[in-house]
Amino acid sequence: MEKALKADYSSLKALGWLEVFEALKGWWPKRMNIEDLAPYLDALYEEKASKVMDTLRGMRGEQWRPSPSMLYREIQGIEAKKRQRHDAPQDQYGQRKRDDQMPSALVQVRLLIDSGHHVCNCSPRSPTVIKDSLCVLRCKACGGLEQGQVFEAEDDLDF
Ligand SMILES: [Zn+2]
Repeated sequence: MEKALKADYSSLKALGWLEVFEALKGWWPKRMNIEDLAPYLDALYEEKASKVMDTLRGMRGEQWRPSPSMLYREIQGIEAKKRQRHDAPQDQYGQRKRDDQMPSALVQVRLLIDSGHHVCNCSPRSPTVIKDSLCVLRCKACGGLEQGQVFEAEDDLDF
């Protein structure tokens, strides 16, 4: 990126960074020269200028010009939030999972199985299932782990 900076405006422009520079310079009061763009380029060289620009637009309300590291952290934060949304537990139809289907519950079930906790084998199955505070389901009749959740725990968890 430093090469781009040492070159002329046109290469910065081609890469979209001139727009970033203009925004940084124009939206906040303190003076900024083109050389001041260098630390931004250093910190953000992995990002597309368009993404940096979008992030900047979201930061217009800031009183002071965001530093390179602020901008970097903001982008990382947005990325993390996006990932979280993307990773929000869903079943294969895109429905939010019930709390007893959440990985946290399934991990508990898996731990209980591994420590020898018995699985309900009632026949017919007890119609009443109790859910504990960790969302582990147990048969009310025998206290064993509920088969459906055990099945999911063994199916869903890869360890
Ligand atoms: Zn049972």
